Amino acid sequence: MASPYTVIDERFHRLTLGTATLETLWTGGRWLEGPAYFAAGRYLVWSDIPNNRILRWDETDGSVSVFRQPSHHANGHTVDREGRLVSCEHLSRGVSRTEFDGSRTLLVDRISGKRLNSPNDVIVKSDGTIWFSDPTYGIDTDYEGDAAASEIGASHVYRYDPATRECAAVATDFAKPNGLAFSPDERLLYIADTGATHAKGGPRHIRRFSVASDGRTLAGGEVFATCDAGLFDGFRVDVHGNLWTSAGDGVHCYAPDGTLLGKIAVPEVVANLCFGGPKRNRLFICATTSLYAIYVQTAGCRRP
Ligand code: MG
Repeated sequence: MASPYTVIDERFHRLTLGTATLETLWTGGRWLEGPAYFAAGRYLVWSDIPNNRILRWDETDGSVSVFRQPSHHANGHTVDREGRLVSCEHLSRGVSRTEFDGSRTLLVDRISGKRLNSPNDVIVKSDGTIWFSDPTYGIDTDYEGDAAASEIGASHVYRYDPATRECAAVATDFAKPNGLAFSPDERLLYIADTGATHAKGGPRHIRRFSVASDGRTLAGGEVFATCDAGLFDGFRVDVHGNLWTSAGDGVHCYAPDGTLLGKIAVPEVVANLCFGGPKRNRLFICATTSLYAIYVQTAGCRRP
């Protein structure tokens, strides 16, 4: 089997495993997104957006089952500080949380009285606040939600505080904000812009912001990396601050200094990925119709 690795910078050797191969864990979806790993339960959930379902892969036996259907056309997911599933939903046009008793709470679906577009991807900061992107993909067509006009008329990134229920825009100069992730120390926030889907020559990059000491506002926003194959959608950061991002030809890895270190080839267009497994050293990759995985020589950044 040909190696899946393209080494562009020697540092990539120390982040990957020469003998690790890309494994296909499951196939049969339409557009997979939003992987989130639950260490306590040893399972992974992810979205199959057009099929309006959330799937679950069981690490103990490799089986795959339906976790939730209908899923409100859920897209990105994350795990909050207490271990609960937090989900972006195209159909409810909001962000939900699955509680310990299994019930679903819609946390936020409006800003200043207007409905959100279709929350796409989400992360939780160590202070419990929920940061999410709100492009229009889930209201552009009936394929991934219900087609509708944007009430806001723009696509922003928001910070929602579950303690106060306050929601505020933190970045308002994006075409189509998408994946997002903090640096390990949370001083930096990276946000992808997939605006090229709607405008020829539009953004296909990840921007880097510095997070103010109050933890609520952003500054900067320079382009950190531009995608050379398709688009950056969802991505994650490892313990060293390297970015592992989805792209059209697989997974790309960037050093914190912005250097493209290498790529992992994946046979389908990748939309999102996450670290998981007991050591958080396995990349789970959602790529169009299939779920893939590969072990790496680093671990996902996760604050205790
Ligand atoms: Mg996305």
